[in-house]
Amino acid sequence: MFIHKSYRFRIYPTKKQIELIKKTIGCSRFVFNHFLATWKDTYKETGKGLTYHSCSSKLPSLKNEYAWLKEVDSIALQSSLRNLADSFSRFFKKQNKAPRFKSKNNNVQSYKTKYTNGNIAIIGNKIKLPKLGLVRFSKSRDVEGRILHATVRRNPSGKYFISILVETEVQPLDKTETSIGIDLGITDFAILSDGHKIDNNKFTIKMEKKLKKEQRKLSRRALHAKNNGINLLDAKNYQKQKIKVARLHEKVMNQREDFLNKLSTEIIKNHDVICIEDLNTKGMLRNHKLAKSISDVSWSAFVMKLEYKAKWYGKQIVKISRWYPSSQICSECGHQNGKNPLEMRGWTCSGCHEHHDRDINASKNILAEGLRIQASA
Ligand SMILES: [Zn+2]
Repeated sequence: MFIHKSYRFRIYPTKKQIELIKKTIGCSRFVFNHFLATWKDTYKETGKGLTYHSCSSKLPSLKNEYAWLKEVDSIALQSSLRNLADSFSRFFKKQNKAPRFKSKNNNVQSYKTKYTNGNIAIIGNKIKLPKLGLVRFSKSRDVEGRILHATVRRNPSGKYFISILVETEVQPLDKTETSIGIDLGITDFAILSDGHKIDNNKFTIKMEKKLKKEQRKLSRRALHAKNNGINLLDAKNYQKQKIKVARLHEKVMNQREDFLNKLSTEIIKNHDVICIEDLNTKGMLRNHKLAKSISDVSWSAFVMKLEYKAKWYGKQIVKISRWYPSSQICSECGHQNGKNPLEMRGWTCSGCHEHHDRDINASKNILAEGLRIQASA
């Protein structure tokens, strides 16, 4: 099967390359905003919007008017326009809000360029990009497949990254003839029906505490600047702290991503059928006691990873209704014991007197219910 896969690396552009990256991001933003304004005006006057092609045909004259647009990667400008047209079509399909003007103060600054005729390539520990030439990058793994496009990004912390999207072929993984049930928890991240408990990445929790502390410091500095009538852009201490927070945040996100990737791959590799609760995160988020942990442990990101990896590698995900009382049923005798409060970690079945760990019992029930659904499908 052919799939799209993206790779993300940190890049280390030279001073000159940084200048050009900033310029390209600026020009892409200019093109986006220019055509967004034209689009809006046209709509006001005629009741009809524009199209990608009608804008694209005006791009050469815009370049003649503003000669500096010619200094940057021309595909990036086209991509920016494509991005605008796509946002409008999603807006008309009611899938998102109307596109808004881009600002140089937005958190993430990026531009996208497409592969044509070998303009993007990996050569040793450098990546070749249009106009930029060879940029040093930290090659943590090999890029396999046909490069489709690349996005150059500048994070609030001032670091540069590249995402490369490729098309590649994956082979199904060997069958293991085993199935597993997964209960997603709060104290532990996941509890498997084979008795394994996967704890929340301790490192992440420690880092998140640190992050919170630094965020509070940031708000204090913002308040301090406000009380002294200083514009935030000119408040040096605030700006310094802002970068510190951004760097920490990045680190936490990377750690979490890594943790979820490794865990999902491990589970997919070792099992053919994976049974899991159908999460209704929205419903759960209404319960404030649970909300914090859920965002912390990124359950939905984990389930998404399991789902696409199952598709790639020929494995199966079975989802159990979230109304299924997995924590009330005895996995030994099937007796329904009624509701247990969340904070109760273990209980004894009133039918067969088996003592259960709340979460392991639930994951066993999830597995049994999943296999029942699979058999009847
Ligand atoms: Zn029982």
